[in-house]
Amino acid sequence: MATPQDRSALAEHVERLLAAGGPLPIVAAGDPVLRRPTAPFDGQLGPELLTRFVEALRETMRDAPGVGLAAPQVGVGLRIAVIEDPAPVPEEVRVVRGRVPLPFRVLVNPAYEAVGTERAAFFEGCLSVPGWQAVVSRPAAVRLTGQDEYGRAVDEVFTGWPARIVQHETDHLDGTLYLDRAELRSLSSSAAVVERWAQPTPATAAEELGFSL
Ligand code: ZN
Repeated sequence: MATPQDRSALAEHVERLLAAGGPLPIVAAGDPVLRRPTAPFDGQLGPELLTRFVEALRETMRDAPGVGLAAPQVGVGLRIAVIEDPAPVPEEVRVVRGRVPLPFRVLVNPAYEAVGTERAAFFEGCLSVPGWQAVVSRPAAVRLTGQDEYGRAVDEVFTGWPARIVQHETDHLDGTLYLDRAELRSLSSSAAVVERWAQPTPATAAEELGFSL
């Protein structure tokens, strides 16, 4: 339970972050803030500051660019993330990965659980681990619960690429990085992924790098 002092320190920290304007600096792996579970959001920022913080997360995500950004990635230990994926991918990729457009939304206090037993394994990257990607096997469908930025309850099933995005971002809020769940033999520089593993599935990468799917 946060004391009032912690709460005002948190709000002041966010105010200072936003004061510079523009996209926020993204924290890279190695910073303990990415490894600490976040505090559930219960109004620590106040509606007006929350709105500005969410807007800064959106700007930072788009600027990166990325398809999701969690508060710890800008050094804020609150259970808040934003997601958005315009999904500018070829038809073949869209079909195989289920990468469909995902409109902008805010996840407040999200949690997920697998729906069914089907899993999907694809290359994935993270703005806090720049320059690298690895294959992560995840539940193909998840039920996401939590709230939106207005405090309205969310209870929704996600499939395809959006399911991967909500798991990746929610994991950040628990101090988990995608590398914790990755097949480490698949670890590839982003350049290698573009040059060698651009196929819709990681089957060729599995064969040539020696891991199983
Ligand atoms: Zn990430």
